[in-house]
Amino acid sequence: MKKNNFSGSIWPAITLLLPALPLQLYFAGNWYSFWHSYSLGMACGIVAYIWFCLTLILAGRIRYFDRVYGHDRVLIFHGYLARAAIGFALAHFVFKYMFHSEFTIQSSIGLAALLLFGMVAALTVLFMVDGILSQKRALQKSQKLKRFWDYSRLKCVHNLTAAAFACTVVHILIASSTAETNIRMQAMGGMGVFSLGVYCYHKIIRGWQNNRAGTTVSAVSQPDHTVMRLQLNKLPAKLVHSRAGQFCYFRFISAKCGKEEHPFTLSSPVVNQQSDLLIKAVGDYTQKLSEIEPGTRVHCDGPYGHFTPEPNIVPLLFIAGGIGITPFMAIVSSWNTIHLQKPVTLIWSTATENDMIQRAVFDTFAEKNTLFTFVPVVTRPAGASPCAGRINKKLLGSHYTKEMHVYLCASARLRKAVMAILRELGTPERMVYRERFG
Ligand SMILES: Cc1cc2nc3c(=O)[nH]c(=O)nc-3n(C[C@H](O)[C@H](O)[C@H](O)COP(=O)(O)OP(=O)(O)OC[C@H]3O[C@@H](n4cnc5c(N)ncnc54)[C@H](O)[C@@H]3O)c2cc1C
Repeated sequence: MKKNNFSGSIWPAITLLLPALPLQLYFAGNWYSFWHSYSLGMACGIVAYIWFCLTLILAGRIRYFDRVYGHDRVLIFHGYLARAAIGFALAHFVFKYMFHSEFTIQSSIGLAALLLFGMVAALTVLFMVDGILSQKRALQKSQKLKRFWDYSRLKCVHNLTAAAFACTVVHILIASSTAETNIRMQAMGGMGVFSLGVYCYHKIIRGWQNNRAGTTVSAVSQPDHTVMRLQLNKLPAKLVHSRAGQFCYFRFISAKCGKEEHPFTLSSPVVNQQSDLLIKAVGDYTQKLSEIEPGTRVHCDGPYGHFTPEPNIVPLLFIAGGIGITPFMAIVSSWNTIHLQKPVTLIWSTATENDMIQRAVFDTFAEKNTLFTFVPVVTRPAGASPCAGRINKKLLGSHYTKEMHVYLCASARLRKAVMAILRELGTPERMVYRERFG
């Protein structure tokens, strides 16, 4: 739970400062001309290129960054860095065009890359990452549009950024300013090759390793009409050492659901190389998973995430919405033999009581540990229910204390609502850990 503040702040600082090295390579002895439109164009291009390189490296799911910042923060940073890089690339284009408006092969390759980056970024912002358009209810109802912005299809389109990046490397290496000195060619070429190497390692070599060290589904059951439980057998060595609360990217190799990769949390601690997944059918892919049969081969990439609280260090407040309970299920189950010495409160909100699948895990733990408080909240109870209610300021305020570290896993809407309440209660951001289920 303890964060390493030094490594936590050093990498964003390196990201911001890294373009200074190639800028020095290009401008040494010529800094006086920096404000000329040609030089400004070159400077913007260099910053854009280095940040595109880092964006691609971050897309390679590097475990070190995952451990320091958490998987979702790395992806959010990747998104902001990509947007900043596109902004600088656009400024590079404008300044260069002001200086020289004729197109050459070199500038056309750069423009093609910029258009591709722009197109992918627009699709990502509009439809993928809490997509502005995909959130619109009217649009959500249109099956045709839904198929268009299917996440996996958009993810394939997103991979076109690697092609755009390869064009950028060519664009920069055949630029006359780069070709002027060997050291510029080596530095820019080396950075480009390294970034593409990390990306290809992740996409090709890691994919091949995950394929070789896969596992199988040993049993399938349906604890509720919308949730299914898949038991996995003989997990690969890297998953055996996963910590409760972590997740993996899974591919179920079956004609029934295709080979798409989706993230799911291990909902039980790994015992005897086995673990479970609890999966809610929310869309095309998860609905098809109900047809999966025992024996289906599974490729796993992980474990990822640092949603792994430790007991008995500080008081903890867990807040789950719906299927967002899965990490807490693994965490609380893994504490089975532990006697709590610091309070832990779990607030779990679902639509109906039937949605509280496997709640016995928490009821039993609460019976054994007086310091564990389980607060079930049902928003649409079938009849009169003691759990009827909502997660609101009154409820959170009655369980929250200032020393608590808060772990939150819920839909985007509930996450935003809870975050707003926590801010009102004066909870510092650094004491809130979030897992995004999308
Ligand atoms: C870290 C993490 C852990 C998760 N753990 C669980 C879990 O234990 N149990 C569970 O039921 N669900 C879990 N999810 C959510 C699950 O991954 C999505 O519900 C599922 O991928 C939806 O796919 P779909 O095609 O059926 O639905 P869609 O309607 O296509 O997608 C619904 C939303 O899920 C997300 N999503 C869809 N496809 C992908 C993908 N390939 N990669 C990443 N996100 C995607 C998008 O935000 C999308 O808007 C987890 C998600 C994340 C990010």
